Amino acid sequence: MNVLQKNIALGELRAARSMLPEPVGLVPTMGFLHEGHLSLVKRACEQSASVVVSIFVNPTQFAPTDDLDAYPRDLERDVTLLQEAGANLLWLPTPDVMYPPDFQTWVDVEKITQPLEGEKRPGHFRGVTTVVAKLFNAVQPQKAFFGQKDAQQVAVIRQMVRDLNMPVEIVTLPIIRERDGLAMSSRNTYLNPEERRAALVLSKSLAAAESAYESGERDAQIIRKIMEEIINAEPLARLEYVSCANFETLEELEMLDKKALLSMAVYIGKTRLIDNRVLG
Ligand code: AMP
Repeated sequence: MNVLQKNIALGELRAARSMLPEPVGLVPTMGFLHEGHLSLVKRACEQSASVVVSIFVNPTQFAPTDDLDAYPRDLERDVTLLQEAGANLLWLPTPDVMYPPDFQTWVDVEKITQPLEGEKRPGHFRGVTTVVAKLFNAVQPQKAFFGQKDAQQVAVIRQMVRDLNMPVEIVTLPIIRERDGLAMSSRNTYLNPEERRAALVLSKSLAAAESAYESGERDAQIIRKIMEEIINAEPLARLEYVSCANFETLEELEMLDKKALLSMAVYIGKTRLIDNRVLG
């Protein structure tokens, strides 16, 4: 695997990329890799002749009060894991490469960024879409691979690709979970043992909602209530939102008569976790 580190100019990335056999698959990440990331890399290896992985903790998608500086990093381990998974090129741009001092162009997807994560994290998706657009332009992949773990993110990126005619196919892959159900996340490392146990309320509440749905419940308010009650019963959990929304538009549903996205953000202690499940 070729590793392009530190302040390499875009020209060097382009040169390395141009040597790769086509088609090229891209897996954008923020590093501190786990099985969720590696499932994307492995699928990218199956579906493309070459795989480029980026690791970039993108400052513009973090709010000033967020965990940017504390975000976990372990580059040596990431390199080993990516080598084993079969990636061909690892690009590690720095903030200076991505955002030079005169940077002034942003990608802003409007409606679908408004609810859920967009409402709770103002400016977050503007940072995400801008950096992903830059990664697409720099790497020019035929396919890009994203996890359903960040359900709204992938919906927003699909919208951007459609709206701006970007010549890239978006592939979405399922959430990889720990054996007990907790969705894998780099942020799980922040949890102490007690919080790690409490964090199971996210997947448990989704499972309870799905089981009610499978028993015939179609009232979205009741489905939201089932999730809320389970989360509120856990003393270490603080619910930020639960949602039962139209899978396509992310607008809240009254009745579950179409494909739906159940999603939530919950603080466990100081750690903000998200999880989701698709129904129908
Ligand atoms: P991140 O490093 O958190 O920005 O994630 C990079 C990519 O990995 C995104 O497309 C995420 O949706 C995806 N991802 C993160 N966690 C998981 C998981 N548990 N299962 C599947 N994909 C994941």
